[in-house]
Amino acid sequence: MKKYKSAIILFAVFEAIAVWLWLSTGSLFYLLNFSYIGCTLGVGLALSAAGWKYAREFVQFGVGSYMLVFLGLICKENMQIEGFWYYLFSGVVGAGVLHYAIAKIFGPLLFGRGWCGYACWTAMILDLLPFKKPAGPRKRIGFIRYIMFALSLGIVILLISLGKANKVTMFYLFVAGNVLYYVVGILLALVLKDNRAFCKYICPITVFLKPMSYFSVLRVKCDESKCIQCGKCLEVCPMDVEVNNDARSRKNATECILCQKCKKACPVKALK
Ligand code: SF4
Ligand code: SF4
Ligand code: SF4
Repeated sequence: MKKYKSAIILFAVFEAIAVWLWLSTGSLFYLLNFSYIGCTLGVGLALSAAGWKYAREFVQFGVGSYMLVFLGLICKENMQIEGFWYYLFSGVVGAGVLHYAIAKIFGPLLFGRGWCGYACWTAMILDLLPFKKPAGPRKRIGFIRYIMFALSLGIVILLISLGKANKVTMFYLFVAGNVLYYVVGILLALVLKDNRAFCKYICPITVFLKPMSYFSVLRVKCDESKCIQCGKCLEVCPMDVEVNNDARSRKNATECILCQKCKKACPVKALK
């Protein structure tokens, strides 16, 4: 049972959030929504603990497609960053704001960039491309994410000031934004031969994710006394994290998506 401890804890945390939100808002949606996400995460972690190779992909598709198709396209909730700004400025603490608060602003203090490894519907498609290991070193173009962040905020402020911000406009913005993310993400991956190039250089959400995940409780730790400096962990890491250094300030530390590939590659089990 010990190896399933994390799965049980994660499921219990999400179930507690589900029940708390259900009772405090009276909305059954929160109970079903967070129970579904907690169940998928719990089952995925349990499958991973049992050694199933595709456990991460199971969670990624289970949560990612639910959020994109059910919440986004069927329920018409804008779950992208523009939706977060829109609901925040409207003073509505709905699904969009809660999603950002839990997955991308405060949650990363606990589980770092687990969202990026296990739930993001953009990366769920990008990870299917063939460039699982980056073909070359990082480019120095990460500043683009800050421009994208400012643009997302600017678009919503403009729509609000023009009196055009409403659920219908935000739904069209959600569809257009996702199409744009997929097209740019796939093209960039093909050009740079790196599935996660979009995450490294373009994605505006990282402006929230990176500083919070620096302090994450969950992180890949390296027992440097065991490490034989073979470099295998660095070869497989999709995010160029200097994971064989245990310091929080290691290179690209806040880029770790907790995918566990480095742990599987380490021949001496120095990574925990
Ligand atoms: S960096 Fe952005 S696109 Fe990439 S996985 Fe994270 S949230 Fe998704
Ligand atoms: S390979 Fe290791 S260091 Fe790299 S992103 Fe995955 S878990 Fe993090
Ligand atoms: S794979 Fe393990 S032993 Fe090799 S460099 Fe990484 S942490 Fe060290």
